[in-house]
Amino acid sequence: MTAQSNIYPTKALQELDAAHHWHPFSDMKSLNDEGSRIITSADGVWLTDSEGKKILDGMAGLWCVQVGHGRKEIADAVHKQMVELSYYNTFFKTTHPPAIALAERLAKLAPDHLNTVFFCSSGSEANDTVFRMVRTYWDKQGKPDKKVIIGRWNGYHGSTLAGTSLGGMKGMHEQGDLPVAGVHHIDQPYWFGEGHDMSPDDFGIHVARKLEQAIDEIGEDKVAAFIAEPIQGAGGVIIPPETYWPEVRRILEEREILFVADEVICGFGRLGEWFGSTYYGIKPDLMPIAKGLTSGYLPMGGVMVSDKVAEGLMLAGGDFNHGYTYSGHPACAAAALANLDIIEREGLVGRVKNDIGPYLQERWLKLGEHELVGEARMSGIVGALELVPDKKNPHKPFKDVGVPGLLCRDISFEHGMVMRAVRDSMIISPPLVLTHEEADFLIATAEKTLNDTYRILKRDGWLD
Ligand SMILES: *Cc1c(COP(=O)(O)O)cnc(C)c1O
Repeated sequence: MTAQSNIYPTKALQELDAAHHWHPFSDMKSLNDEGSRIITSADGVWLTDSEGKKILDGMAGLWCVQVGHGRKEIADAVHKQMVELSYYNTFFKTTHPPAIALAERLAKLAPDHLNTVFFCSSGSEANDTVFRMVRTYWDKQGKPDKKVIIGRWNGYHGSTLAGTSLGGMKGMHEQGDLPVAGVHHIDQPYWFGEGHDMSPDDFGIHVARKLEQAIDEIGEDKVAAFIAEPIQGAGGVIIPPETYWPEVRRILEEREILFVADEVICGFGRLGEWFGSTYYGIKPDLMPIAKGLTSGYLPMGGVMVSDKVAEGLMLAGGDFNHGYTYSGHPACAAAALANLDIIEREGLVGRVKNDIGPYLQERWLKLGEHELVGEARMSGIVGALELVPDKKNPHKPFKDVGVPGLLCRDISFEHGMVMRAVRDSMIISPPLVLTHEEADFLIATAEKTLNDTYRILKRDGWLD
C-alpha cells in the first residue's frame, strides 16, 4: 500500500472504519451504511481518495490548511525538531527554543497590544482557557461578581464543555445539558436569515445593540466578557453588516468588560489581513487562535493575551492553575514556525487581499444570480451561497432545512470539489495558495453542482 499507487482496498478499509471508528459530528448509523470516503494523499489544493479520484479541497481541510497540503518544508522542520527535542513540558520553570521563538513571532504578528501567548493544542482548548482566564482576571481585579460570559446564538467556539457553552449551537447544547451556568447568548448578525425586514445597515446596528441590552440587563458588574468570531465560520460564514462591528466597538468602549475575538478561522490570512480583528478594526483583550497557525500539519492552538490581561492576571502574582501537557509542544511549534515562514515568504496574506481574494470574490458573487441561490457572500477567501426554494422570495427556507444542502455537497464531491453544507448554505474556505486556474475550476464546479442540484430538487418537488 504505497501513497503513489493509490490502489487502496476501499471496501475493506470502509468496513474496518465502520467497525471501530467513531467520527466527529456524524450520524454513525447512516455513515456506516454508506461508507466513509477515504482520503489517502494530498498536494497543494488537491486531495486524492482511495479510488485515485482527485478532489479540490475547497474547505482547506477544516478551514485550516492555509499553505496547501504536502509542504515538505514543514515536515522537515518537524522531523528536525523531533530528532533534537521531541517533547518537553513548559510547566516546571522550563521552556524550549521552539516555544520561545513561536511566542515572539506571534507577538510580532498580532495587533500591537497583544504580546503574550498561552499555548494549547486546539481551538476548543483555547476557549476553555479563555473561560478560566476571563473569570480569574476579574477575581484578581477584586470583582469576583463579574462572571457572566456573553456569546452569540449560532457562534462556534469548539466542542469541549466551555467551547460548546460559549458557542450558540442548540443541537450541541442539547447533548450534555449545556451551556454551563453563567453563559448568556445574544442574537447573531445574520442579515440574510434573520434581519431582512430591515436594511443590512439598520440590522447591523440593531443586532449589535443586543449586546448593550444584555450587558445592561445582566448588570455590567456581573459581566466578565463578550466572545465572538469576527466572521462566523461553522455557523455558515455569517459576514456581519458593515455597521455591526463599529457599533459593538462603541458599546465595548463604554463598558468595562473583556472582549474575546475568536480568530480560530479568521486568523492567519483568511480575510486578507493577519487577523480578523485587524480587518474589522476591533480590539480584543484575548484572541484564541488555532487552525491556520500550523495549517493543520500538527494540532496547536493558543490564546493571545493583551498587555492589560497579562498585567492584571499573569503578572498579578500567584499561579494560574491551568495548562496542558502539550502546551507549547516543540514539534507543533516547529510546524507553526515553518508554516508562518511560508505565509510570510510567499506573501499569502497580501495575496488574499490583492490577488486571489478579489479574483475569487468577483466570480463567486456572480453565482448569486443562479436560480437556486438567494445570496452569495464572500470576504477574503471564505464564502457562502444560500440555497433557496424560491428566488423571488429568497428569505423563505426549504421545507426540510439541511436536506438540499447535503444533496448539493454530495454532488459537489462527485464533481471533484469539497464544499461544505451548513443548513442549506454551501461554504468554501480554500487554501490561500489557490491559483487563478484552480479558482476557475472551483467556480465552474460550483456552477455545475448548482445546476445538477437544481434539476434534482425541481424533479422531486422541492422548489416553489
Ligand atoms: C474550529 C473552531 C474552534 C474549535 O477548534 P478545534 O481545534 O476544533 O477545537 C473554535 N473556534 C472557532 C471559531 C472555530 O472555527
